Amino acid sequence: MGDAVSVRGALRARVNGVFGLVRRRPTRGRILLYHEVRRGADPIGAVDPEAFRAHQGWLRSRGLRGTTIAAMRGDGSPDGVVALSFDDGHASVVDACAVLVAMGYAATLFVVPAWVERGGTGTCSWTELAALAREGFEVGSHDLAHERPCGVQAAVLAERYRASKILIEDRLGVEVTGLAYPYGLAPAHARRAAALAGYAYAVTSEPGANREGADPLRLRRNEIHGTDRESGLIGKLAGTDDWFAPIRRLEHRLTCG
Ligand SMILES: [Zn+2]
Repeated sequence: MGDAVSVRGALRARVNGVFGLVRRRPTRGRILLYHEVRRGADPIGAVDPEAFRAHQGWLRSRGLRGTTIAAMRGDGSPDGVVALSFDDGHASVVDACAVLVAMGYAATLFVVPAWVERGGTGTCSWTELAALAREGFEVGSHDLAHERPCGVQAAVLAERYRASKILIEDRLGVEVTGLAYPYGLAPAHARRAAALAGYAYAVTSEPGANREGADPLRLRRNEIHGTDRESGLIGKLAGTDDWFAPIRRLEHRLTCG
């Protein structure tokens, strides 16, 4: 299974890189998804800090400005804007955010409040998150304890999503309007739960652009990997990785209905 997944990942990266060489005009309504920004971590899921800095430079050289999802949505997803997001609240994201601040960029951080409460060196603290919120970063919810929604009734799931939102709001004194579904799993009952819990928008990990009129509770994001070079990154903004969306959707349906 692991081998099959890594072969698929390598194939996906190769296809994206090749398409990226020829199709390079970024489309509007893109949200990039990062996890860790740390050297020596998982080479696919994590991005080396040097590579992260290069990614932001490539965005700038294309006339693109990184911002929060809420800001992009509020502005009607104009040309020249790309939303940046980080899932899981890894401690390494604090340094990545300093890079963004120096460039005048911002991002949305989807955190797991149960993990932040537990503390530990691998996770951002409430103090760090409060400081980032003051600098213009958006803090969103990534569920109370990062659990799958499979087999959980919508009303029960909504309580979980609501508790997560309230805990972050209490700790940081900011309004939380965005949810990132754990594992990107967004079956119909999870989307209903997100609405019941009062979220204005929710994001998946299905690659694609978010055009006007897109379901705000099923926004797409392009996941950025440690192996992405300039053609890969710009290619994803132009749609070269979007062919993977139906496969991702099928995987999710098989996992969670
Ligand atoms: Zn996650």
